[in-house]
Amino acid sequence: MEKREQLYEGKAKKVFATDDENLVIVSYKDDATAFDGLKKGTIVGKGVVNNRMSNLLMRLIEQKGIPTHYVKELSERETLVKKVKIVPLEVIIRNVSAGSFAKRYGVEEGIPFDEPTCEFSYKNDDLHDPLLNTYHAIALKLATKGEIALIEKYAFRINEILKEFFLSVGVKLIDFKLEFGKTKEGTIVLADEISPDTCRFWDAETNEKLDKDRFRRDLGGVEDAYREIFRRVGGSALASEEDED
Ligand code: ADP
Ligand code: UDP
Repeated sequence: MEKREQLYEGKAKKVFATDDENLVIVSYKDDATAFDGLKKGTIVGKGVVNNRMSNLLMRLIEQKGIPTHYVKELSERETLVKKVKIVPLEVIIRNVSAGSFAKRYGVEEGIPFDEPTCEFSYKNDDLHDPLLNTYHAIALKLATKGEIALIEKYAFRINEILKEFFLSVGVKLIDFKLEFGKTKEGTIVLADEISPDTCRFWDAETNEKLDKDRFRRDLGGVEDAYREIFRRVGGSALASEEDED
């Protein structure tokens, strides 16, 4: 697979064309941002952790029958994925109160919910990713009613898969963000990444934060937290074993 021109550089990743028009290469950076890009920094080794952890989780999700963009891990930081048209919705699932939910509704962090919640933001940097409901998403033609129903179904199923997996390694999955895309054939697949940048992970015993909140909130030990969550998921041993041919 030949790497061609850079198509896009985002805050955390670069996207490159390949000689196959239906495939792109995603390259993970160590750059970190928070608060709508206002806070900037570097988390040494983050790109490697996020790439390999995201791939491991995408493979798990695919095994459980949900289609993803994942094709093949190319190196520590680079992965071949199906090129999709991103549905401009950030899909956020929550199991426990935290972050903007706790702030918006004036509740403490750490309160477990009886049922997981799902919310959508309009993925639009100029508008600062405003919260929106499914009627708004349909009105804005961001996706059809059927697509949104499917995305929501996939998101809750992914939550069950991830919750079980993380609990088995002593980690509580508090909340996370997903992005979906549409392939050339029109199939909705899970895209982007699942990593400590996009999830909240708390140690099941101590509630220690093992995710990007350490960077957002200047808690220290940021690199150690990324290394620790990677170790818990068995990253160093498992990450590319399926791709070795
Ligand atoms: P941002 O754009 O928010 O700064 P990133 O730095 O992570 O985010 O950039 C990666 C970009 O690639 C995101 O805009 C994401 O929606 C997009 N993307 C993720 N997966 C795919 C894919 N399979 N095909 C095309 N674009 C993708
Ligand atoms: N999240 C993300 N990208 C965003 C916004 C949120 O990956 O642009 C993730 C975040 O890491 C957390 C979950 O979505 O795991 C819920 O985030 P929240 O709405 O609480 O916002 P925050 O306070 O983290 O900005």
